[in-house]
Amino acid sequence: MNRLVDYLNPFARIGKRSYSFVFPFFFTLLVVVVIELVGYVILKDPDRTSIYAIIATIAAIIYCSFRDGLKGGLTATVGTLLYYFHIIYTRSYQGERLESALIMVALLSSINFSVAMVIGWLRQTIDKLIEREINEKQRLEAVIQQIPAGVIIADKEGNIVQSNERFNKIFNNKGRLDIKVGKVTAPNATYKGKPVKPKQWPLAQALFNGRQVLGKEYIFRKKRVNQAIQISAAPIKGRDGNILAAVCIMTDVTAQRELERQKDEFIGIASHELKTPVTSIKAYTQVLKHNFSKSGDKDSVNQLEKMDAQLNKLTDLIGDLLDVTKIESGQIQFNESLFDFDKVVKEQVSQMQLTTQRHTLSLRCNTNAKIYGDSERVGQVLTNLISNAIKYSPHAKKIIIEGKRVKNNVELSVRDFGIGMSKSNSGKVFERFYRISGPNNQTFPGLGLGLYISSEIIKRMGGKIWVESEEGKGSTFFFSLPIKDNNKKKA
Ligand code: ADP
Repeated sequence: MNRLVDYLNPFARIGKRSYSFVFPFFFTLLVVVVIELVGYVILKDPDRTSIYAIIATIAAIIYCSFRDGLKGGLTATVGTLLYYFHIIYTRSYQGERLESALIMVALLSSINFSVAMVIGWLRQTIDKLIEREINEKQRLEAVIQQIPAGVIIADKEGNIVQSNERFNKIFNNKGRLDIKVGKVTAPNATYKGKPVKPKQWPLAQALFNGRQVLGKEYIFRKKRVNQAIQISAAPIKGRDGNILAAVCIMTDVTAQRELERQKDEFIGIASHELKTPVTSIKAYTQVLKHNFSKSGDKDSVNQLEKMDAQLNKLTDLIGDLLDVTKIESGQIQFNESLFDFDKVVKEQVSQMQLTTQRHTLSLRCNTNAKIYGDSERVGQVLTNLISNAIKYSPHAKKIIIEGKRVKNNVELSVRDFGIGMSKSNSGKVFERFYRISGPNNQTFPGLGLGLYISSEIIKRMGGKIWVESEEGKGSTFFFSLPIKDNNKKKA
């Protein structure tokens, strides 16, 4: 029964582009036969059915053109026209009556033809549009399914309207879509070690606050195994700027993190193993230097001094590598106390002046500030910034170091007049292992760790570090640290 209703219902066929001649032909024939039967058998006067014949045939044309497009409309129109001639012929019209009947047929035919064309064309256009939309939807669905990341899309009420297999896998979701954004959370997930509230999820942030969230890393504990998932989300806005929906992308970075952990572990072990022999070589160098200077062998002393300087560089490199592994594993030690900032800066600058003959280090630092933290680590940051300033300004003669109070902070700057860097690079130089590539930078040795370690030290002490630079003109590195007095010591 349902199939018959669907077969007859033109609306049930919308979107299916299959049009036939057969149905409209038999349908029009049926309409004509019914009209004739009513005229001859029921009313016994076929002339009385003319007006009903016109209405019924026009209705049949409308129906057929909506059901079968142009094919249906034109079949019904031709059938109707033939029926009109059949009426004129069988009713034996003559003279004026015949003339007006022919004019009537011409008029009705043009109306019927226009109706069939317009409705048929409309129906076919609607079908085409629907088909296009379905194709686009399928294409989008295929793309979403193929993306090698979990994807979910939520409407503006927070209902999940689309998700892919990868998402279901990550969340162990089994295809459920009745998740309400901002109302539910994953109980086994943490962000920076803390559980995540429903409103804190990137998709909720994007949908309700219009915020774009980029690559936040969450830990999902699944069957006693930690899974690292990077999540990004963005709002989808209409032309008027209102949020219509939001999309969220999740990437499983567990394998990547495991590789990084193994690499860090390797660097940690390797640098630790290197440290002992280098310390012994350094001790033996000192002994040899002592012996040669006693015997007055100046050449050997000179060579041993050069060897010692290289060993110092090697020790610094190993120190950097060890620091990085300590930072990554959260084991970096800080010996904190209250110290005189100006004194540490002055000592460090005069030590660094000994390492360069070309550059003059000009110092102005009278902050009279006491800082609470690890003074040696602050010295390490300064050494790093000044040695970079020396290294990356081989043709300049001056480096300006300035310290001042800014509100409740000390702010120290190291300015050089060297190669500088572009804006895009200045945001990245504090990243681990980041080194600027390019013809200007290739000749300078380094591991890309100094600034990363410096920024971690400064952050740990509650401060900030940043750089202002112009390519070819030079760079100024800044850091600021909070000033503490005796009463406000950190616990
Ligand atoms: P590296 O051991 O490579 O010097 P850093 O972490 O100290 O490592 O610095 C990272 C990168 O930042 C360097 O490779 C260099 O390209 C750039 N850089 C650092 N200091 C300066 C500076 N004063 N002028 C220009 N570029 C600099």
